[in-house]
Amino acid sequence: MTKVYYDNTVTEDALQGKKIAVIGYGSQGHAHAQNLKDNGYDVVIGIRPGKSFDQAKEDGFEVYPVAEAVKQSDVVMVLLPDEIQGQVYREEIEPNLEAGNALVFAHGFNIHFKVIQPPENVDVFLVAPKGPGHLVRRTFTEGSAVPALFAVFQDATGKATQLSLSYAKGIGATRAGVIGTTFEEETETDLFGEQAVLCGGVTKLIQSGFETLVEAGYQPEIAYFEVLHEMKLIVDLMYEGGMENMRYSISNTAEFGDYVSGERVITPDVKDNMKEVLKDIQSGAFSDRFIKDNENGFEEFLAMRKKQQGHQIEAVGRDLRDMMPFVKAKSIQSK
Ligand code: NDP
Ligand code: MG
Ligand code: MG
Repeated sequence: MTKVYYDNTVTEDALQGKKIAVIGYGSQGHAHAQNLKDNGYDVVIGIRPGKSFDQAKEDGFEVYPVAEAVKQSDVVMVLLPDEIQGQVYREEIEPNLEAGNALVFAHGFNIHFKVIQPPENVDVFLVAPKGPGHLVRRTFTEGSAVPALFAVFQDATGKATQLSLSYAKGIGATRAGVIGTTFEEETETDLFGEQAVLCGGVTKLIQSGFETLVEAGYQPEIAYFEVLHEMKLIVDLMYEGGMENMRYSISNTAEFGDYVSGERVITPDVKDNMKEVLKDIQSGAFSDRFIKDNENGFEEFLAMRKKQQGHQIEAVGRDLRDMMPFVKAKSIQSK
């Protein structure tokens, strides 16, 4: 079994006395900054003028332009969108790094695909919470945490491992458990998970099920409930106790159907397709496509988003969730 680090196994505080610049104040940024501050660390925010800037000020932080925040700090946590990091790094971060500083990420993308090539005299590591930033903050305030991964890419000071574990503890992650990895493994498995299963795989599975029912003449509202709404209930059961636990809770009819039809829907060629997806991630073909599209004003990205937003399941779902205030309260449309 792999080693898991908890609060009581991370005893040395290598982060103590260091000034931390959190660059970006979005999903991950606000959570890291607030958790570190609540744990007593000296945190400043580096951000461009705008919505996040105003929010960070309102939340009581000292807020500076990125270059200024980096200049003041010992530890620089980069929590900008992945496609923005390269440019901001070259223009505002790199010129202000000093020997012995730490350059930190929450995802290995830019280091692994060599968009960012840091100088040899700084520590480079990642601390990647395995959940969205808003959950990183919420679970922290509730006394628990989202687990995280850490990896050291470059150890210039000889303290990088200790520093990354202290950072993980600083954001609360050691309450839940922290596991070591490499930039390569974190980057490639994270991209594969979101593309093949969590985001790409699941949404396409749900849409296909919805379309099959609607095309067969069933009410779209019923189809929505059966293939999207109930997904959460099933996933919660798997999250708590694996597939075995989910299958224990569902009816025998559902369990029998699961075994009979799962294999008919997810045929062996689906796994072959997954292997192709993984190959494109490993070769850099996916990251190139993403970075080039960003340079092109995200033309492909925005067109794909628009197409997906127009799917019938979204309109049906919006109307149904209006009738379920307990669900609606958590959606982006309520913000
Ligand atoms: P968000 O998109 O939520 O936030 C980005 C922040 O960067 C915003 O505060 C935004 O400010 C700011 N920003 C954007 N462009 C610039 C710029 N040119 N100069 C300065 N600031 C800018 O990002 P995430 O938190 O989702 O992602 C951050 C990192 O965390 C990524 O590496 C991601 O892979 C990783 N990660 C994200 C997870 C998640 O669940 N979201 C999970 C684990 C890791 P403004 O308001 O001005 O636009
Ligand atoms: Mg990801
Ligand atoms: Mg049912």
